[in-house]
Amino acid sequence: MKLIGAIEIEKMDETAAAIERWRQQAIRQAASLGVDAAEVDWLLRELAGWTPLDRLMHRPPPRRCAIEELDKLWQQRLQHNIPLQQLLQTVTWRRLQLTVTDAVLIPRPETELLVDLALDCLAEFSQPGLWVEMGTGSGAISVGMAHESPELSVIAVDTSAEALEVAAHNVKRYKLEQQISLVQGHWFDALLVSHDVPLLQGMVSNPPYIPSAVVEQLAPEVRDREPTLALDGGVDGLVAIRHLIQEAPHFLQSGGCWLVELMYDQAAEVSRLLAEDGRYRRIESHPDLDGNQRFVSARRI
Ligand code: GLN
Repeated sequence: MKLIGAIEIEKMDETAAAIERWRQQAIRQAASLGVDAAEVDWLLRELAGWTPLDRLMHRPPPRRCAIEELDKLWQQRLQHNIPLQQLLQTVTWRRLQLTVTDAVLIPRPETELLVDLALDCLAEFSQPGLWVEMGTGSGAISVGMAHESPELSVIAVDTSAEALEVAAHNVKRYKLEQQISLVQGHWFDALLVSHDVPLLQGMVSNPPYIPSAVVEQLAPEVRDREPTLALDGGVDGLVAIRHLIQEAPHFLQSGGCWLVELMYDQAAEVSRLLAEDGRYRRIESHPDLDGNQRFVSARRI
């Protein structure tokens, strides 16, 4: 029996054979540095449109792509720990293709679930109203929500002007300028500059929640390449989340939703803080696909 994935290079056309030879040495290099070999195929798909199926069928890549260009990016990935999403300035997330740079956190797969939870909260209301997203970064969460709920309005806040430029690009790409307003500022302070913000139907956030000491130990692709601002949640990781618990009730309507992503071991403490605050009810934690309680929601009393 022939192994799936084993390829007879000599049956390929010249371009495909050259790329396949490059691919095999790139995979060996990845393995020696502990990098996931799947990233090689991902790079080939993004740059040359070459899918694993094309490869198995001995088909050449649909787009011309110089081996030198492939290898230049791949060496930057390996030698400088630059995430491929930053090198390619793009990430596929939910049904979206988003622009990312080193000014924003790369949207993670688990955060796709945060959008589902927010849309579930939204479905409790007879009509979508006004939400705020705190710490929008690339704008992924707001774009994800507004894209699927055309009547929703979102104020997407970030303290970083550079991040908001990336978010603006993504908002424009999906023609969501009417639904999403981008505002620069520090968490809820950003809403204070305008006096006519109505009460919010919900607040959603993927805030920095990693304890500072843990940030130091993260993989270099994350620690050295993604904005610390988006990762570092202070000594216990909960500095931003405590602030969001404290401030959100001033802005949420009764029954309004409070929803955040957090680390796998923070749900109990965050639920306790919400209960202790006294202004929240229906405090619930929600698992990611690994079964870790990575999200907590509550409703404003
Ligand atoms: N989930 C991110 C990581 O794994 C952290 C995101 C955050 O702190 N909000 O690096």
